[in-house]
Amino acid sequence: MLEKLKNEVYSANMKLTELGLVINTWGNVSGRDPETGLVVIKPSGVEYSELKPSDLPVLDLEGKIVEGDMRPSSDTPTHLALYRAFPCIGGVTHTHSMYAVAFAQAGRSIPALGTTHADYFPGDVPCTRPLTPSEIAGDYEAETGKVIVEAIEKIGADRMRAALVFSHGPFTWGQTAAESVDVSYVMEVIAEMAYRTEMLHFAGNSTPLMQNELLFKHFDRKHGPGAYYGQIKK
Ligand SMILES: [Zn+2]
Repeated sequence: MLEKLKNEVYSANMKLTELGLVINTWGNVSGRDPETGLVVIKPSGVEYSELKPSDLPVLDLEGKIVEGDMRPSSDTPTHLALYRAFPCIGGVTHTHSMYAVAFAQAGRSIPALGTTHADYFPGDVPCTRPLTPSEIAGDYEAETGKVIVEAIEKIGADRMRAALVFSHGPFTWGQTAAESVDVSYVMEVIAEMAYRTEMLHFAGNSTPLMQNELLFKHFDRKHGPGAYYGQIKK
């Protein structure tokens, strides 16, 4: 079942290694079927070189396996929490990419410092609060999903397509698995840009922070109600 979605999610997982966003098995991508609401995700701990589309398990939104012999990614409850909270999400990506993790480990949001950032995100990419000891001891991966939902729900998952989990790393999403990987890649690039900008800033050059007017000009011309970037969709 869902062979087309399995192929899409398989390709999205393989793209993570091609883009240099993951090493070893440090990443996972899932996708949701818009008709049945079922989710396809990378199996747990399988090397990318050995992964096949037919390995990918199919689950319902409560985590019950509908098809497949392999255990789903250990991060599955985090992905499912995002799908349950935000119907607009059709794909989720998690990586441990270098610069996004650096901000997460510092407990910091990725600051919006320029137009590259504003073309994709309507403000700082938020970092979640730390999980409490009882959340860590309890249903850890599902609680991780909940703190992401907390950090995003006021902004809206359709506008802010990324968050950093405190002391952990980035999760991104989009309408499809492929879009969530694209956002992951862009987020890593803007995290590196922000890191390098701050290095110059703290080295004594006075980098001005981006004005809010410029931030929303760039975000809204691509994603706002009067968007005019790109070609007109027929
Ligand atoms: Zn992780």
